[in-house]
Amino acid sequence: MNKIIVLLALTLLVGGCSLHQAAPPPPAAASAHVKIAFVKFPVLEYHMIGRPEGRWQRTPENFRSDLEWLYANNYYPLNLRDLLDGFGSVPAGKRPVVLTFDDSTTGQFNYLPDGKLDPESAAGILKAFHDKYPDWPLKATFFVLVETSAPSHNLFGQPELAGRKLRELSAWGMEIGAHTYSHDRLDKISAAAARRSLDRELATLAKFVSAEVVSLSVPEGKYPADLSVLAKFRLVTEVAGGLNPVKYDPLHIKRIQAIDAEWRKFFRRGAG
Ligand SMILES: [Zn+2]
Repeated sequence: MNKIIVLLALTLLVGGCSLHQAAPPPPAAASAHVKIAFVKFPVLEYHMIGRPEGRWQRTPENFRSDLEWLYANNYYPLNLRDLLDGFGSVPAGKRPVVLTFDDSTTGQFNYLPDGKLDPESAAGILKAFHDKYPDWPLKATFFVLVETSAPSHNLFGQPELAGRKLRELSAWGMEIGAHTYSHDRLDKISAAAARRSLDRELATLAKFVSAEVVSLSVPEGKYPADLSVLAKFRLVTEVAGGLNPVKYDPLHIKRIQAIDAEWRKFFRRGAG
Protein backbone atom coordinates (compact mmCIF):
# COMPACT_ATOMS: atom_id res chain seq x y z
CA MET A 1 0.00 0.00 0.00
CA ASN A 2 2.70 2.46 1.04
CA LYS A 3 4.75 1.48 -1.97
CA ILE A 4 1.85 2.36 -4.24
CA ILE A 5 1.49 5.78 -2.64
CA VAL A 6 5.21 6.48 -2.95
CA LEU A 7 5.26 5.32 -6.57
CA LEU A 8 2.29 7.53 -7.37
CA ALA A 9 3.95 10.48 -5.68
CA LEU A 10 7.17 9.95 -7.58
CA THR A 11 5.30 9.63 -10.87
CA LEU A 12 3.56 12.93 -10.26
CA LEU A 13 6.82 14.56 -9.32
CA VAL A 14 8.76 13.42 -12.35
CA GLY A 15 5.83 14.15 -14.65
CA GLY A 16 5.51 17.66 -13.28
CA CYS A 17 9.06 18.79 -13.74
CA SER A 18 11.93 16.74 -14.89
CA LEU A 19 14.52 19.01 -13.31
CA HIS A 20 13.37 18.38 -9.78
CA GLN A 21 14.92 15.14 -8.69
CA ALA A 22 13.05 13.02 -6.24
CA ALA A 23 14.77 12.63 -2.92
CA PRO A 24 14.65 9.18 -1.37
CA PRO A 25 11.13 8.58 -0.10
CA PRO A 26 10.67 9.14 3.62
CA PRO A 27 10.30 6.11 5.85
CA ALA A 28 6.84 4.70 5.29
CA ALA A 29 5.57 5.67 8.70
CA ALA A 30 1.99 5.44 9.75
CA SER A 31 1.12 8.79 8.18
CA ALA A 32 -1.39 8.79 5.34
CA HIS A 33 0.50 11.72 3.82
CA VAL A 34 3.65 11.15 1.85
CA LYS A 35 5.69 14.33 1.89
CA ILE A 36 7.38 14.82 -1.47
CA ALA A 37 10.83 16.16 -0.83
CA PHE A 38 12.39 18.64 -3.25
CA VAL A 39 16.01 19.48 -3.75
CA LYS A 40 15.68 22.75 -5.65
CA PHE A 41 13.17 25.56 -5.87
CA PRO A 42 12.45 28.38 -8.33
CA VAL A 43 12.21 32.10 -7.71
CA LEU A 44 10.39 33.58 -10.70
CA GLU A 45 11.11 37.10 -11.89
CA TYR A 46 8.52 39.31 -13.57
CA HIS A 47 8.93 42.86 -14.80
CA MET A 48 6.10 44.60 -16.60
CA ILE A 49 2.67 43.02 -16.97
CA GLY A 50 1.04 44.27 -20.17
CA ARG A 51 0.92 43.84 -23.91
CA PRO A 52 2.64 42.84 -26.09
CA GLU A 53 4.67 39.97 -24.70
CA GLY A 54 8.38 40.81 -24.68
CA ARG A 55 11.71 40.27 -23.01
CA TRP A 56 10.70 42.47 -20.07
CA GLN A 57 6.93 42.18 -20.29
CA ARG A 58 4.50 39.30 -19.68
CA THR A 59 0.93 39.59 -20.94
CA PRO A 60 -1.95 39.22 -18.48
CA GLU A 61 -3.03 36.08 -20.35
CA ASN A 62 0.40 34.51 -20.06
CA PHE A 63 0.71 35.46 -16.42
CA ARG A 64 -2.64 33.77 -15.71
CA SER A 65 -1.49 30.71 -17.60
CA ASP A 66 1.77 30.67 -15.60
CA LEU A 67 -0.25 30.54 -12.39
CA GLU A 68 -2.48 27.78 -13.75
CA TRP A 69 0.59 25.77 -14.79
CA LEU A 70 2.23 26.17 -11.40
CA TYR A 71 -0.97 25.17 -9.63
CA ALA A 72 -1.48 22.14 -11.87
CA ASN A 73 2.11 21.08 -11.22
CA ASN A 74 1.80 21.14 -7.44
CA TYR A 75 3.66 24.36 -6.73
CA TYR A 76 2.84 26.43 -3.67
CA PRO A 77 3.71 30.14 -3.43
CA LEU A 78 5.82 31.71 -0.71
CA ASN A 79 6.94 35.26 -0.16
CA LEU A 80 10.69 35.54 -0.43
CA ARG A 81 10.96 36.43 3.26
CA ASP A 82 9.16 33.16 4.12
CA LEU A 83 12.41 31.39 3.22
CA LEU A 84 13.82 32.69 6.49
CA ASP A 85 11.41 30.34 8.29
CA GLY A 86 12.39 27.36 6.17
CA PHE A 87 9.94 25.39 4.07
CA GLY A 88 7.69 24.17 6.87
CA SER A 89 4.65 26.03 5.55
CA VAL A 90 4.73 24.13 2.25
CA PRO A 91 2.03 21.44 2.45
CA ALA A 92 2.95 17.80 1.96
CA GLY A 93 3.12 16.96 -1.71
CA LYS A 94 3.69 20.57 -2.82
CA ARG A 95 6.81 22.33 -4.03
CA PRO A 96 7.70 25.91 -3.19
CA VAL A 97 7.82 28.72 -5.72
CA VAL A 98 8.43 32.45 -5.12
CA LEU A 99 6.90 34.99 -7.52
CA THR A 100 8.83 38.26 -7.62
CA PHE A 101 8.07 41.52 -9.44
CA ASP A 102 10.72 44.16 -10.10
CA ASP A 103 10.33 47.89 -10.80
CA SER A 104 6.80 48.59 -9.39
CA THR A 105 5.25 49.44 -12.77
CA THR A 106 1.60 50.39 -13.15
CA GLY A 107 0.77 47.09 -14.84
CA GLN A 108 1.75 45.29 -11.66
CA PHE A 109 -0.87 47.08 -9.56
CA ASN A 110 -3.37 49.44 -11.14
CA TYR A 111 -6.65 51.05 -10.17
CA LEU A 112 -9.04 51.93 -13.00
CA PRO A 113 -10.68 55.37 -13.27
CA ASP A 114 -13.88 53.94 -11.73
CA GLY A 115 -11.87 52.95 -8.64
CA LYS A 116 -11.89 49.22 -9.32
CA LEU A 117 -8.78 47.07 -9.12
CA ASP A 118 -7.58 46.49 -12.68
CA PRO A 119 -8.25 42.80 -13.38
CA GLU A 120 -5.44 42.83 -15.96
CA SER A 121 -2.80 44.01 -13.50
CA ALA A 122 -0.69 41.49 -11.62
CA ALA A 123 -2.37 42.31 -8.30
CA GLY A 124 -5.81 41.85 -9.90
CA ILE A 125 -4.78 38.57 -11.49
CA LEU A 126 -3.27 37.26 -8.25
CA LYS A 127 -6.39 38.19 -6.28
CA ALA A 128 -8.71 36.55 -8.82
CA PHE A 129 -6.53 33.44 -8.84
CA HIS A 130 -6.67 33.21 -5.05
CA ASP A 131 -10.47 33.58 -5.18
CA LYS A 132 -10.63 30.74 -7.71
CA TYR A 133 -8.19 28.53 -5.77
CA PRO A 134 -8.33 29.45 -2.08
CA ASP A 135 -5.60 26.90 -1.35
CA TRP A 136 -3.21 29.06 -3.43
CA PRO A 137 -2.29 31.76 -0.89
CA LEU A 138 -1.92 35.37 -1.90
CA LYS A 139 1.87 35.52 -1.82
CA ALA A 140 4.35 37.38 -3.98
CA THR A 141 7.25 39.77 -3.42
CA PHE A 142 7.24 43.22 -5.04
CA PHE A 143 10.62 44.95 -5.35
CA VAL A 144 9.63 48.58 -5.62
CA LEU A 145 11.18 51.85 -6.76
CA VAL A 146 10.29 55.18 -5.17
CA GLU A 147 11.39 57.92 -7.56
CA THR A 148 12.84 57.52 -11.05
CA SER A 149 12.64 59.47 -14.29
CA ALA A 150 9.91 57.06 -15.48
CA PRO A 151 6.71 57.96 -13.58
CA SER A 152 5.09 54.60 -14.37
CA HIS A 153 7.84 52.90 -12.32
CA ASN A 154 7.44 54.97 -9.16
CA LEU A 155 5.53 52.92 -6.57
CA PHE A 156 3.18 51.56 -9.26
CA GLY A 157 2.73 54.82 -11.14
CA GLN A 158 -0.33 56.34 -9.49
CA PRO A 159 1.20 58.75 -6.95
CA GLU A 160 -2.00 59.51 -5.08
CA LEU A 161 -2.56 55.77 -4.53
CA ALA A 162 1.03 54.75 -3.75
CA GLY A 163 0.59 54.49 0.02
CA ARG A 164 -2.71 52.67 -0.29
CA LYS A 165 -1.21 50.09 -2.66
CA LEU A 166 1.74 49.38 -0.38
CA ARG A 167 -0.57 48.98 2.61
CA GLU A 168 -2.93 46.74 0.66
CA LEU A 169 -0.25 44.44 -0.72
CA SER A 170 1.04 43.99 2.79
CA ALA A 171 -2.42 43.52 4.31
CA TRP A 172 -3.31 40.93 1.66
CA GLY A 173 -0.29 38.87 2.70
CA MET A 174 2.29 39.85 0.11
CA GLU A 175 5.76 41.24 0.65
CA ILE A 176 7.28 44.60 -0.18
CA GLY A 177 10.97 44.41 -1.00
CA ALA A 178 13.51 47.08 -1.93
CA HIS A 179 14.97 47.78 -5.37
CA THR A 180 16.80 51.02 -4.35
CA TYR A 181 15.27 54.49 -4.29
CA SER A 182 15.87 55.33 -7.97
CA HIS A 183 17.00 52.08 -9.62
CA ASP A 184 20.55 52.87 -8.63
CA ARG A 185 23.33 50.66 -9.95
CA LEU A 186 25.10 49.74 -6.74
CA ASP A 187 28.33 48.87 -8.55
CA LYS A 188 28.57 52.37 -10.04
CA ILE A 189 28.04 54.61 -7.05
CA SER A 190 30.03 55.05 -3.85
CA ALA A 191 29.22 52.95 -0.80
CA ALA A 192 27.97 56.10 0.92
CA ALA A 193 25.64 56.92 -1.98
CA ALA A 194 24.40 53.34 -2.09
CA ARG A 195 23.63 53.43 1.63
CA ARG A 196 21.77 56.72 1.18
CA SER A 197 19.67 55.26 -1.63
CA LEU A 198 18.71 52.19 0.37
CA ASP A 199 18.12 54.08 3.63
CA ARG A 200 15.96 56.62 1.84
CA GLU A 201 13.89 53.86 0.31
CA LEU A 202 13.49 52.02 3.62
CA ALA A 203 12.42 55.25 5.34
CA THR A 204 9.78 55.85 2.64
CA LEU A 205 8.43 52.31 2.84
CA ALA A 206 8.33 52.42 6.65
CA LYS A 207 5.74 55.19 6.41
CA PHE A 208 3.29 52.74 4.87
CA VAL A 209 4.32 49.20 5.75
CA SER A 210 4.91 48.04 9.29
CA ALA A 211 6.57 44.77 8.28
CA GLU A 212 10.34 45.03 8.23
CA VAL A 213 11.73 45.11 4.69
CA VAL A 214 14.23 42.25 4.56
CA SER A 215 14.47 41.50 0.83
CA LEU A 216 16.39 43.41 -1.85
CA SER A 217 16.67 43.00 -5.58
CA VAL A 218 19.88 44.71 -6.69
CA PRO A 219 19.21 46.63 -9.95
CA GLU A 220 20.48 44.72 -12.97
CA GLY A 221 21.92 42.14 -10.63
CA LYS A 222 24.90 44.35 -9.85
CA TYR A 223 26.36 44.17 -6.37
CA PRO A 224 28.31 46.91 -4.59
CA ALA A 225 32.02 46.34 -4.15
CA ASP A 226 31.52 46.91 -0.42
CA LEU A 227 29.02 44.24 0.62
CA SER A 228 28.48 45.88 4.00
CA VAL A 229 26.14 48.22 2.07
CA LEU A 230 23.67 45.32 2.04
CA ALA A 231 23.83 44.69 5.78
CA LYS A 232 20.21 45.74 6.41
CA PHE A 233 18.88 43.01 4.14
CA ARG A 234 18.69 39.31 4.84
CA LEU A 235 17.80 38.14 1.32
CA VAL A 236 19.24 39.52 -1.91
CA THR A 237 18.24 38.38 -5.38
CA GLU A 238 20.16 38.05 -8.61
CA VAL A 239 18.50 38.59 -12.03
CA ALA A 240 19.26 35.11 -13.38
CA GLY A 241 20.91 31.83 -12.48
CA GLY A 242 18.19 29.17 -12.55
CA LEU A 243 16.92 27.06 -9.67
CA ASN A 244 18.14 27.44 -6.09
CA PRO A 245 19.31 24.56 -3.96
CA VAL A 246 17.34 24.16 -0.73
CA LYS A 247 20.53 25.32 1.01
CA TYR A 248 20.49 28.55 -0.98
CA ASP A 249 22.88 31.46 -0.59
CA PRO A 250 20.75 34.24 0.98
CA LEU A 251 22.86 37.01 -0.56
CA HIS A 252 22.75 35.47 -4.04
CA ILE A 253 19.29 34.06 -4.59
CA LYS A 254 19.04 32.97 -8.20
CA ARG A 255 16.00 33.74 -10.28
CA ILE A 256 14.33 32.56 -13.46
CA GLN A 257 12.76 35.12 -15.76
CA ALA A 258 9.15 34.18 -16.40
CA ILE A 259 9.34 34.28 -20.19
CA ASP A 260 8.66 31.43 -22.60
CA ALA A 261 12.32 30.63 -23.27
CA GLU A 262 13.07 30.21 -19.57
CA TRP A 263 9.91 28.22 -18.89
CA ARG A 264 11.12 25.81 -21.58
CA LYS A 265 14.68 25.74 -20.35
CA PHE A 266 14.10 25.31 -16.64
CA PHE A 267 10.68 23.63 -16.48
CA ARG A 268 10.44 21.90 -19.90
CA ARG A 269 7.08 23.65 -20.14
CA GLY A 270 5.86 23.88 -23.73
CA ALA A 271 8.94 22.00 -24.91
CA GLY A 272 6.81 19.31 -26.51
ZN1 LIG B 1 14.83 46.81 -12.02
